[in-house]
Amino acid sequence: MTLQGKTALITGSTSGIGLAYAKALAAEGANIVINGFGDKDAIESERAALEAASGGKAIYSGHDLTKVEEIEAMMQEAAAVFGGVDILINNAGMQHVAPVEEFPLDKWNLIIALNLNSAFHTCRLAIPFMKQSKWGRIIQTASAHSLTASPFKSAYVTAKHGLAGLTKTIALETATFGITANCISPGYVWTPLVENQIPDTMKARNMTREQVMNDVLLAGQPTKQFVTVEQVAATALFLCSDAAANITGANISVDGGWTAQ
Ligand code: NAD
Repeated sequence: MTLQGKTALITGSTSGIGLAYAKALAAEGANIVINGFGDKDAIESERAALEAASGGKAIYSGHDLTKVEEIEAMMQEAAAVFGGVDILINNAGMQHVAPVEEFPLDKWNLIIALNLNSAFHTCRLAIPFMKQSKWGRIIQTASAHSLTASPFKSAYVTAKHGLAGLTKTIALETATFGITANCISPGYVWTPLVENQIPDTMKARNMTREQVMNDVLLAGQPTKQFVTVEQVAATALFLCSDAAANITGANISVDGGWTAQ
């Protein structure tokens, strides 16, 4: 177990990629803070399983990260239980698909708040502890959409490009403190986030479900396969290792070749 004694906070980890990160880090002995929404009993059973796997402690902090005061409360909870956060994974994210001139204002504001602003707030609150302990790992789940665009996803693409810039800036500011900051940029990963955008994409593009899957989602992914959550989590685990101590400010694509085109 390579992460014993370290504490990892993963936002949006009750589902999909976030839960896979939590499982991978717990298997290496890290204490875990999970966050996100969902069924209370299901979350408690995931929390207990993470604790059993790590041999350390796992807590659930169910705050809504679109609100600054709730982000601050989550970071305070982590500090109260563990002293601070060694590994911060900003992963919570949401999507909305609509033409820019019809994009609902509330959706724009929520997506920028969750996919971009929340990462700024968790980073600014986690970095003082990391600087003090002269070790830290900041990992953002960005996206192929941090490097390239698709129509009808203006808020998401804007937030993810912003997240990539924020991460490079943080990497420069923390480079001499044993802290690394990197983006992992998946292509299409089969999770509830992808499944839930199929109906809106069918509407926006006037397509069937099969057409959306094959002609939109996997059209740009040369491997013609969805990325798995385990493959994304394994990349994060590598970034937490000593072997990755000089990888900082990078944006690592796990996208089946999408952004090579
Ligand atoms: P998901 O919908 O399975 O999980 C999202 C998580 O965020 C859940 O735990 C959910 O409860 C949580 N969440 C939602 N709103 C929240 C809020 N206001 N406050 C706190 N938590 C909240 O999605 P996923 O596919 O696992 O996506 C995770 C990340 O990966 C996102 O940032 C997404 O943009 C990114 N991503 C996903 C894909 C993909 O194809 N699935 C591709 C590239 C990037």
